Amino acid sequence: MDIKSVHTQLNKHKDAIRNTVESLNEFSSLVCFLRIISCNGDSPCNFSDAWCVAERSVDVDSTGRNPIVYFADLFDVTILTQFLDTGTLPEHKKQSSTALLKSFDRLAKFLDNYEETSKILQKYSEKNLREVEWAGIFGTHIAKQLAVVQDMRMSDTGYEKVSVCICGCGNDLEYGDTSMGNKQVWHGSIDIFLGHVAIDVAWQATDSSSTSAFELDTDNLDKYRHQLIAETIVFSCTRSKGLVPTIAVSREKLKVFLYDHESDLLFESKEFPLASFTKEKELPYQTILALWLAINYSLFGSGISPVYKQAGYFANFKPFITEKKKCEIYVKEMHLFGCKKVLTMLPPLSATVDKKGQKGFWHVPRS
Ligand SMILES: [Zn+2]
Repeated sequence: MDIKSVHTQLNKHKDAIRNTVESLNEFSSLVCFLRIISCNGDSPCNFSDAWCVAERSVDVDSTGRNPIVYFADLFDVTILTQFLDTGTLPEHKKQSSTALLKSFDRLAKFLDNYEETSKILQKYSEKNLREVEWAGIFGTHIAKQLAVVQDMRMSDTGYEKVSVCICGCGNDLEYGDTSMGNKQVWHGSIDIFLGHVAIDVAWQATDSSSTSAFELDTDNLDKYRHQLIAETIVFSCTRSKGLVPTIAVSREKLKVFLYDHESDLLFESKEFPLASFTKEKELPYQTILALWLAINYSLFGSGISPVYKQAGYFANFKPFITEKKKCEIYVKEMHLFGCKKVLTMLPPLSATVDKKGQKGFWHVPRS
């Protein structure tokens, strides 16, 4: 890939990118530390049954501290701005130059097709789709387009599958095992694996009047958020490579959770709106850039700053599992694949018919 031509391509969007990079260093791109109050991460438990009560650093300030970070603190955006300014890559990133150029190329092409993509997103987010259909659209047209590693696999559990993206683009959707964890503790399938990125899709039907699981409501520690935190911790432990993100996306918004097991620091970003949730009905540049950075975290992740450790706002997950004697499992025995939620054999039909001849309900045991 020719560095000059990538630079020329990306430079067409120079002003928009510059303004957006600045916004990733402001309150609109807040990231909170999370502290776990209680959880069942020591139990053999599928993600759907995981619970994890966690408070955000903005919620509590009893010590007078208010430790927060911005999105740009967790990702090295200067690699991007330097490239725009000078057309060069930093010395210390020379080894990853091919992947970096590819990531810039992806971003440039995404911004070239920006209006078309916004339209697809807007159109389908207003339809009453099934979750798998939305996952296919988001995965195909947004996540995959921004990723250097474009292998995408959707979960083969719990979905009634669709073989191609429903927008008519003709892109095939692949399904397979997307499970992770360890059956002795938290485990289960994530909706999408995109290269080394885990994406959880929370689709809500348009006729639902309930509030989104994604709202940054301090009292809304609902079950879905519990599951996302469990998935984030497990995925990071399977990668065992520093601060690893898990991306959560709904119809209207996305957010990024990140965990680093070594330092026991857990983060939750603010919500980044998708097209349908904005006045202009377009995908905001801030959302695009945040997602691009998170998806390509192996290139742009800044790791854990000593300042964060000094802030002392640890997740408290490590002391918890150490006390419960499950630390070894999280450190050494977490793996990708092979730990799907298995539906055990259903009982014979006769066993589900009660004395009056009424059919009973299939019981799906929790694994
Ligand atoms: Zn499509």
